[in-house]
Amino acid sequence: MSQLPLRAQLASALGRTAATLSRATGRGDGSVIGGRVGLALEPDLLRQLAQDRKLALVSATNGKTTTTRLITSALQDLGDVATNAFGANMPAGHVSALSSAKDAPYGVLEVDEKYLPEVVDTTGAGVIVLMNLSRDQMDRAAEIWLLAQKWRRALAGRNVHVIANADDPLVTWGASTAARVTWVSAGQPWKEDSWCCPECGGPLDRKGLDYVPPGGHVSGVPGQSTQAENDWACRECSFRRPAPSWILDGEAAIDPQGRRWTLDIQLPGRANRANAVIALATAEAFGLPVERALPRLREVRSVAGRYTTVERDGRQARLLLAKNPAGWLEAFDVLDPALPVILSVNAQGPDGRDTSWLWDVDYRVLRGRPVYVTGERRLDLALRLDVADVPFQLMGSFGQALAAQPPGKVDVIANYTAFQQIRSEFGRAV
Ligand SMILES: [Zn+2]
Repeated sequence: MSQLPLRAQLASALGRTAATLSRATGRGDGSVIGGRVGLALEPDLLRQLAQDRKLALVSATNGKTTTTRLITSALQDLGDVATNAFGANMPAGHVSALSSAKDAPYGVLEVDEKYLPEVVDTTGAGVIVLMNLSRDQMDRAAEIWLLAQKWRRALAGRNVHVIANADDPLVTWGASTAARVTWVSAGQPWKEDSWCCPECGGPLDRKGLDYVPPGGHVSGVPGQSTQAENDWACRECSFRRPAPSWILDGEAAIDPQGRRWTLDIQLPGRANRANAVIALATAEAFGLPVERALPRLREVRSVAGRYTTVERDGRQARLLLAKNPAGWLEAFDVLDPALPVILSVNAQGPDGRDTSWLWDVDYRVLRGRPVYVTGERRLDLALRLDVADVPFQLMGSFGQALAAQPPGKVDVIANYTAFQQIRSEFGRAV
């Protein structure tokens, strides 16, 4: 790799020092502060650090941290990989990630959806991975449509290879201005944000659809889908699902040659199999074949505390993070039907203050198992469950909810700050 200019070397070194100091004084992992210091000294630092590396950028509403981790694990087969493992997914975090692995020829960066155009432009990354777009705590349909439109502009006329989920109409629209796209059928269980054509506003038809919006009758198993069900087309214009070259089919990935690979990964659930097939397609874009990439995906056991278990007094609680309606749907798919579940919802800054999104989730799948509700907004969630006829018990704290369990296993779904609180209080993963 070519040598960085002196100013960039200095900015990068001082940033790393700031990050080390921040860690040493117990202020988090330091990746954001370190990157900010570096960028303050050399505003062009990210571009310079990115030069001469083979980079993949990963963006989505859900699953980007996990998919970044899976792709990183795969590419380590080729050489050293710089990555923002702590989820610091804006430019300061990217500076920090690249700066702390100066000589890594590869980089895999998780990128906040809103920052994607800027980071594509600055880093000149050759591979862009786009997975799903849905409403978040603060975003509604109009905002994510604008976001997809910005992706289109950022990708148009650029020499990039995009890996995109063809089952998500908005992602397809956002990706389709790119010169080269590898389409992956990774599924889309959450369809509430894509009933309209992003191109013309007309209705989207879905073939073999067995999903009915909330209030209607639910048939089939939430989170499970068939290939026919993933197809979609606009009724009024020519916009339709592109033919995928990679397909998630139940427990297996089908590659462009039609070979079937069982996704026997350690991360649980449909969402992670979707993340894995996208990681395999991305690895192939870097020249890494499935037979070498897949064993690397199996090595990933947990990602930033997700899916780890915390233990107290003989109760083992498995932690699932769900930050928005689509994320809750994916978390329900991972639940063990034989186990009780603790739900914890907060409404601090990173969660969004407004919890009205709780009403967008269909909770009826929780009927028939013991449900415990806690967190700052437990009353909001309790009202929602009551309306959905899901019996539950209200608990004052996560500790009380855990103590109310018989010894053994329990599943936990928590939103962002609730999840972090449980991790810091019950800490030490087992
Ligand atoms: Zn249309």
